[in-house]
Amino acid sequence: MVARIVLLGPPGAGKGTHAKFLNKKYGIAHVSTGDILRANIAEGTPLGQKAKAYVESGQLVPDDLIIEMVRARLSEKDTQNGYILDGFPRTVEQAKALETMLEKIKSKINLVINFAADDGIVVERLCGRRVCPNCNANYHIKNIPPKKAGICDDCSSSLIQRKDDHEATILDRLKVYHERTKPLIEFYQSRGLVRTVNGNATIDVLQAELAKHIDSV
Ligand code: AMP
Repeated sequence: MVARIVLLGPPGAGKGTHAKFLNKKYGIAHVSTGDILRANIAEGTPLGQKAKAYVESGQLVPDDLIIEMVRARLSEKDTQNGYILDGFPRTVEQAKALETMLEKIKSKINLVINFAADDGIVVERLCGRRVCPNCNANYHIKNIPPKKAGICDDCSSSLIQRKDDHEATILDRLKVYHERTKPLIEFYQSRGLVRTVNGNATIDVLQAELAKHIDSV
């Protein structure tokens, strides 16, 4: 079956890292709304200009902008063999809009993976996270260090710390997660789609568990 997957969980729970792994292992398109927004901000597109202040302060970009952006991304050809939504939906309004969008083409989400991770672990992971601005690879200064400090293993670009990965903004993002995004667990539970995994676990342990869930779709 074609896997159409939503990854839920707080920032720093490992959604991006594992979406990249699943993309490589299964060739399923990785759709990260955060990556799309950051690319638009870097290019200075009209969407990027509208989204910049929200993204940098850890607030949610308005639903209408996000829904339109996802609609356009899901109409691209590489998503026909399935996709992993990483960072979307983040509000009940977005989840409902996604459902309506998919109903129109007789399609639906068939798996929701909920990464349950403690706030303390998430803060530690995000404070130490470094990202490649060129290829979006993720590292952590202690847990996933690059081979050469500060340099991306994959494309040799200099790694950066995201503006929203500083402690005060991380705490704001967590608050937004608890208030706006967490209710989605119940939304998808009522549709029988949720598999909860331990986001505190190591990458290897989680990779094996995720593969099991995807193979069962
Ligand atoms: P992420 O890379 O998923 O942590 O997203 C980074 C930031 O992009 C978030 O803190 C929001 O400002 C914005 N963002 C990403 N996805 C969404 C979404 N589905 N709805 C609203 N804002 C989003």
